[in-house]
Amino acid sequence: MSKKLKTHNDPIITCFNDFLSYVDNLRIKEGESVLDFKYNKSRVKILSSTEDVPENTKGILYWMTREGRVQDNWSLLFAQRLALKYKVSLHVCFCLRPKFMDATIRHYKFLLKGLQEVHADLKALNIPFHLFICKEATDTITSFVKENGIGCVVIDFSPLRLPKEWANNLKEALPKNVPLCQVDGHNIVPCWVASDKLEYSARTIRKKISDRLDEYLTEFPAVMKHPYSENKTEDIDWIAAENSLEVDMTVGEVDWAKPGYRAGMQTLYEFCEKRLQNFSQKRNDPLANALSNLSPWFHFGHISVQRCILYVKQFKTKHTESVNAFCEEAIVRRELADNFCYYNDKYDSIEGAYEWARITLDKHRTDKRQYVYSEKELEESHTHDDLWNSAQIQLVKEGKMHGFLRMYWAKKILEWTISPEEGLRIALYLNDKYSLDGRDPNGFVGCMWSICGVHDQGWREREIFGKIRYMNYEGCKRKFDVPAFVARYGGKVHNKNKNKK
Ligand SMILES: Cc1cc2nc3c(=O)[nH]c(=O)nc-3n(C[C@H](O)[C@H](O)[C@H](O)COP(=O)(O)OP(=O)(O)OC[C@H]3O[C@@H](n4cnc5c(N)ncnc54)[C@H](O)[C@@H]3O)c2cc1C
Repeated sequence: MSKKLKTHNDPIITCFNDFLSYVDNLRIKEGESVLDFKYNKSRVKILSSTEDVPENTKGILYWMTREGRVQDNWSLLFAQRLALKYKVSLHVCFCLRPKFMDATIRHYKFLLKGLQEVHADLKALNIPFHLFICKEATDTITSFVKENGIGCVVIDFSPLRLPKEWANNLKEALPKNVPLCQVDGHNIVPCWVASDKLEYSARTIRKKISDRLDEYLTEFPAVMKHPYSENKTEDIDWIAAENSLEVDMTVGEVDWAKPGYRAGMQTLYEFCEKRLQNFSQKRNDPLANALSNLSPWFHFGHISVQRCILYVKQFKTKHTESVNAFCEEAIVRRELADNFCYYNDKYDSIEGAYEWARITLDKHRTDKRQYVYSEKELEESHTHDDLWNSAQIQLVKEGKMHGFLRMYWAKKILEWTISPEEGLRIALYLNDKYSLDGRDPNGFVGCMWSICGVHDQGWREREIFGKIRYMNYEGCKRKFDVPAFVARYGGKVHNKNKNKK
């Protein structure tokens, strides 16, 4: 299907390669150097007490963590601007830990293959990429900084505890004259700009974000071929890297989602060609194939959400409602999740819920459960509910459960486990073990929304849930063809009476 987009380039896009060239042409290019581009400095936070790059600096280092891509990456662009300003080399590194927050080989393969593409793309731009295999990043990076005369380190922003701890540790360990700068390249409006406090719901943050979009939803300059380099790009032994891992090897790769920038862009292209038109009407139907499916690439930072929004907005006249709905999810809901984790250290605990929700869950904690399942029974899709079992099979086999079913799935875990704490623990465990986009602020908030009402309101009080919003099988039947979904994934009805407690 060919499409004529109304842009200043007015290109004809007939295939994925046209689309990639179209995006490449949109970026502000060499000649208009990255240095000439007016970079919005409010994307950057200086974490160290010193702000000035030392005069004798020999290089700038970007420690890539959350944004695993080369183009459309505000962190890398900021690092390159500094390197160009001081006429020094630019280095990019990634610290590969043997394990990370229960990620499995499914996640690590996605990560590593994305990094291989980063390595190749950086090589073409004369920017050395270093893969450090280490348990503890702080010492490795500090040594690299000292050995190579690095004058500034740039890091990605993440609202989660562990990356926050890495940033703090590095701040303490770096030589006192080397600044440490953090860039929010994940949110369109930087998390600290959108709001300086914990927001109550989408309603309270929506306007704060939308009022700032003119300022932040802008085109990217292209990362340019770097003119200064002392080191050659190293060869990386990717097999040794994989062999260094100490992760669960039983959860295998999935075949529908290929890692890396190009595969992510292909998914974006296909979404706009085929699925976007149905997004507003059919996104709650797990059989409709109307979602973007972009969350794995967003999570690993293989593509930029800002790039996707810039592109999706090109279809605003044609598919107005779908474009609006997609922007609501990918901007407002997603950035609200970062806000929640950034300003609430208990983002993965019942203690992090609103007071009304903690009170109501506590009041109903001893309510009689009709079914109680163990973690193992849930993990193995052994419940009395064939829809729930099918959703769990989808998660395990495909590494991504449909967005609508995620809510039903998590709410049933609350209903069928011995306490809200245990329900939340199991939901997070299964989500993070199997979902390619797991261990993400969206996942913490998704589970917290379903089980303890975060960003939601109180509903009619009922057993076990109290005032937490309830969902049931009958409601799903009204939304979509449940038997067809069950037939697709093969969930069975197990232990209908045996487990009744
Ligand atoms: C119990 C539960 C667990 C979840 N776990 C995760 C998770 O681990 N990782 C994850 O990225 N999302 C999670 N979500 C949020 C949401 O379901 C997924 O982001 C979405 O299904 C991803 O598929 P998609 O990219 O095709 O989404 P689309 O519907 O195409 O949306 C596009 C993008 O918008 C954002 N988005 C959509 N829905 C939400 C939402 N409710 N909250 C925040 N952002 C949203 C995502 O970045 C998504 O990629 C969870 C939700 C629930 C209820």
